[in-house]
Amino acid sequence: MSKSLQAIRGMNDILPEQTPLWRYFEGTVARLLDNYGYRQIRMPIVEFTELFKRSIGEVTDIVEKEMYTFDDRNGDSLTLRPEGTAACVRAVLEHGITGGGQVQKLWYIGPMFRHERPQKGRYRQFHQIGLEVFNLDGPDIDAELIVMTWRLWGELGLRDAVKLELNSLGTSESRGRYREALVEFLSAHLDKLDEDSQRRLKTNPLRVLDTKNAETQAVLVDAPKMADYLDDESRVHFEGLKARLDAVGIPYVINPKLVRGLDYYSKTVFEWVTDKLGAQGTVCAGGRYDGLVEQMGGKPTPGVGFAMGIERLVLMLEALDKVPEELSRQVDVYLCAFGEAAELAALSLSERIRDQLPNLRLQINAGAGSFKSQFKKADKSGALYALILGDDELAQQVVGFKPLRGQGEQQSIAWDALAAHLATCVVQG
Ligand code: ATP
Ligand code: MG
Repeated sequence: MSKSLQAIRGMNDILPEQTPLWRYFEGTVARLLDNYGYRQIRMPIVEFTELFKRSIGEVTDIVEKEMYTFDDRNGDSLTLRPEGTAACVRAVLEHGITGGGQVQKLWYIGPMFRHERPQKGRYRQFHQIGLEVFNLDGPDIDAELIVMTWRLWGELGLRDAVKLELNSLGTSESRGRYREALVEFLSAHLDKLDEDSQRRLKTNPLRVLDTKNAETQAVLVDAPKMADYLDDESRVHFEGLKARLDAVGIPYVINPKLVRGLDYYSKTVFEWVTDKLGAQGTVCAGGRYDGLVEQMGGKPTPGVGFAMGIERLVLMLEALDKVPEELSRQVDVYLCAFGEAAELAALSLSERIRDQLPNLRLQINAGAGSFKSQFKKADKSGALYALILGDDELAQQVVGFKPLRGQGEQQSIAWDALAAHLATCVVQG
């Protein structure tokens, strides 16, 4: 196939074999968020480029080198969203739904776009479920976000495979003081820093902390520590968060080098990481961003949120064999009809059954091939039962009811009794 007719590198089709697992994951998260009182918001996937520059920060990896930016036909610079927070903040401001201190607990789901080097767990179109809370400034809400994700890992069977890392970046004032101290320290060791870190020292010095370069990491061992610069307010907030996690029994490690790639964080930052996915170990990440709304032209509004990468979590469910058994079966009953008159009867019969059993997963295969080939398809579909409707059955107004998974002999069931019979033998979700 010519290259221009293939999917773009790093942008993947999610094939029918994979969608049941995606839907299971997305459905589990959606139900959980509903239960905690979060409401879904849907933003466009394209915004003005300026929105992301202003909110994410000019000297972040995302804005410097990862955005899909293009000119609209009228000359506006637009960008495919690289993340959800900026657009969510834009939306709440535009609709005034955080005004007057109104609390909003929102979540969203959808594709994000970043021009990164594609590899396992890292794509150019990827999907996130994200969540943002506005106008709650206490550690209790930071804790709620983490508690919810902990519950999610529990439901998915992933608890043993993830680890929570926490840090506090302090208020922007204390972070400013820390930044100065860090710059002073690093400037004295300039020759030992890798090239990227030398550049970041000038543009975004905190990012030097999460360098992957071993020599730079060695220098950092003696660098000033953020914890020593935390203001009292941030310290109390952080202690409050830790006390809540302790109360629920959620284990965590403090990672003083956790700074997150985006400019807008303050106080709490956290990441859920795993060692089951190789280099792409962060499955969920977030933090507090009390200054962002104001920075984007709104009134001072505390905010906190996180985003999780769906691809990475789906990969984890597969790698750890946590795909629920029932996902392999998408059909309960497979109806095979033979002959024109039987086909007609099969259609109206199946509609009657659907009326009575709206959750039944009934697939009808009429007129396609021999008895043998239809039966093969019924079996391959994973269905529990096949229904057989030929001329003989039509004449007697019955169907042949054949268990496909070794649950007894074939029997004959009258059309009128069929729905009731199915209700007893197919457990419906
Ligand atoms: P990383 O350090 O892996 O690049 P990040 O800090 O850039 O992640 P965030 O912007 O915080 O990631 O996004 C939150 C989550 O979205 C990540 O933890 C990850 O699970 C997922 N994610 C981010 N970028 C990608 C990508 N290119 N492909 C797949 N998932 C991604
Ligand atoms: Mg990244």
